[in-house]
Amino acid sequence: MGSKEPHKPAAKSKAPPRCPRCGYNQSGEVASWVESCPLRLRCPECGVDFATVRLFRPAPIAIAGPLAGRRISGKLLIRTIIFGAFILLVIVTAIQSALAP
Ligand SMILES: [Zn+2]
Repeated sequence: MGSKEPHKPAAKSKAPPRCPRCGYNQSGEVASWVESCPLRLRCPECGVDFATVRLFRPAPIAIAGPLAGRRISGKLLIRTIIFGAFILLVIVTAIQSALAP
């Protein structure tokens, strides 16, 4: 506490922090944070104003099919697939029970 040394992350991530709109590398900006982290940033390349947390949170992924054009987080997509598989299992089990002699 009270140190003037810049924060050094315990483990370096592979991908540098990038502007959510233009992809400009924000590593220089992040390295300039000494005593605190701003809640919002303005990209020096494209001028977009965004929440700093977006530098470190994975972006939602685009999906195909009936939900094309919508954006969904990877965690929600996995939960939806697992829930769909569970419902399919319940339906198949019910059909097998009904057809069993
Ligand atoms: Zn930008």
